[in-house]
Amino acid sequence: REPFSDEHYDPLLYWYMSIATAVVFSTLGYVIGKREVMITDLALTDGLTSLYNKRYFTNRLEQEFERHLRQQSPMAVIQIDIDFFKRINDTYGHHVGDEVLKKIALLIKENCRKNEIAARVGGEELSIIAYDCVEDEAFNLAERIRQKITELDFSHLGISAPITASFGIAIADETNLKAADIYQHADEALYLAKKTGRNKVCLYSETINHFEE
Ligand code: GH3
Ligand code: MG
Ligand code: MG
Repeated sequence: REPFSDEHYDPLLYWYMSIATAVVFSTLGYVIGKREVMITDLALTDGLTSLYNKRYFTNRLEQEFERHLRQQSPMAVIQIDIDFFKRINDTYGHHVGDEVLKKIALLIKENCRKNEIAARVGGEELSIIAYDCVEDEAFNLAERIRQKITELDFSHLGISAPITASFGIAIADETNLKAADIYQHADEALYLAKKTGRNKVCLYSETINHFEE
């Protein structure tokens, strides 16, 4: 049997062309898909730290808060601020400050699981949304990250003293009427951590007791 006889030529050509077309289109689809993911990543993440950006954070916080209201699932927001960061910039330069920020952001990212979304919400302010997460778990996560930040080695940047960060945690409960309230409360807890010595994790519930005293 001759494969390229008149009898077989057309069907063979048909199959070759079909396969070639399929290969070309799937390659094209793959490349376009990759680009799409890249563009989406650029729109949702922060250029310096590659954590999620404030816009994504705000949308996601709203979504998770709605889910919390619907399903009564627990959630927490952890607000993080590097201690005396201005001093690092002033002493070692802005570029070194950026490197410190990047390294801390990476550590946070590496320590977050699927239900924990880390974002850069301000200059040196980072935040984590932890959904399906109760206060104790959020506290343990924050405490683990806090400890690991103090253990980071910055000697290659000429920094010998440990760098620390402060943490504030708020959980979704009846004191929050809207998503932004949890964020606000986490910020208040962070403020308490700053006021009472830094390099520590404070809960919003503590601020109520603290400021009422
Ligand atoms: P505190 O312990 O009270 O948080 O003190 P702090 O110095 O960290 O706080 P403050 O808010 O006074 O200063 C934050 C500094 O962070 C000021 C700003 O120049 C610096 N900063 C903000 N964004 C960036 C950034 O992207 N890169 C660098 N290198 N510095 C930044
Ligand atoms: Mg700050
Ligand atoms: Mg700071």
